[in-house]
Amino acid sequence: MITPVLPSYARTNLAFERGEGAYLFTTDGERYLDMGGGIAVTALGHAHPVLVAALKAQAERLWHTSNLYHIPGQQRLAERLVAATFADTAFFCNSGAEAVECAIKMARIHHYANGNPERYRLITQEGAFHGRTLATISAGGQEKHLKGFGPPADGFDHVPFGDLAAIKAALGPQTAGVLLEPVLGEGGIRTLPQGFLKELRALCDEQGILLVLDEVQSGMGRTGKLFAHEWAGVTPDIMPIAKAIGGGFPMGVCLATEDAAKGMTAGTHGSTFGGNPLACAVGNAVLDVILADGFLDRVLLRANRLKQQLVMLRDRHPKVIEEIHGEGLMIGVKCRVPNTDLVGALLEEKLLSVGAGDNQVRLLPPLNIEEAEISEALAALDAACAKLGAKL
Ligand SMILES: *Cc1c(COP(=O)(O)O)cnc(C)c1O
Repeated sequence: MITPVLPSYARTNLAFERGEGAYLFTTDGERYLDMGGGIAVTALGHAHPVLVAALKAQAERLWHTSNLYHIPGQQRLAERLVAATFADTAFFCNSGAEAVECAIKMARIHHYANGNPERYRLITQEGAFHGRTLATISAGGQEKHLKGFGPPADGFDHVPFGDLAAIKAALGPQTAGVLLEPVLGEGGIRTLPQGFLKELRALCDEQGILLVLDEVQSGMGRTGKLFAHEWAGVTPDIMPIAKAIGGGFPMGVCLATEDAAKGMTAGTHGSTFGGNPLACAVGNAVLDVILADGFLDRVLLRANRLKQQLVMLRDRHPKVIEEIHGEGLMIGVKCRVPNTDLVGALLEEKLLSVGAGDNQVRLLPPLNIEEAEISEALAALDAACAKLGAKL
């Protein structure tokens, strides 16, 4: 008999009733160190006082009015995101997939508005993840997400990861742009080759096509800069973000330059809930914390320490861990055992992690994780690897 909740997830048999900072507490009072962050969402930990206060205050005033009217919190958040990034404008929605969907539509209508309606195709990378709507599973191109759902949406040309020559070969008169994650997330943490984004940016400029960077997972300070593309010294034309921007409150944003967004006039796109007062109150509070002086520097210090220690851990457990991947606090532990075995062994040590493609286990701790919590995570990893190693 089907469960009341649609059984579309393979869930771990755990339920939490409370969170505090880097910790989650189960309904039977057990404490877990959360290095998964609800898949890179709770980037400031659980129940952060600044976020809780913002949500409570807004909840007592006004929840929702729709985008039929101006929403002051949304305007303020847009102004702040514009000031902090390459972007000139922001569209608000409720999830990563919706933010990417907006990016896809925007890239297409940009060329339509320029008199080139034939330019509607986006080049995307194999192994990518852009969400679970029909357009975004087609963009991702992964068989396991597409199977059974009929013909994929048209308009996506897939090339191997990090292969500029393949992108050049895939270019054509119908190409609208290139869509990719600057650091691969769900597919297994992978960084692009040195210089790749710079060359890709130049290629897009030369061809008059758009560079769309999906920073849904890599954004909001995860890599130690506000956005991962900043490391490459280039800017995109369009950037969907989500996950950590709401700190746990569902929110997505599609940021763009004025030129990229030129076709998106009144009536072209919308969302009933997008950027509602509750979501934007939290989004503004998240920015208050992340943009505070020194916050991102501290993320990098923590990330460097964690990465160093993880490399030593790999050296101690070479039969369990093959390699440590990542950028900042977006870390992938590539396993020699099935990654699900390591996730399970970590669970026994009361540590939450997230599996990923490429047989990796992702560690996505809160950006404000404490030194003692990093030590605790490393001890749990050490114990889990020792147990797994002993069985080999
Ligand atoms: C999670 C993710 C998405 C989809 O976000 P949802 O909120 O699940 O729709 C899109 N792109 C990337 C890079 C992601 O990591």
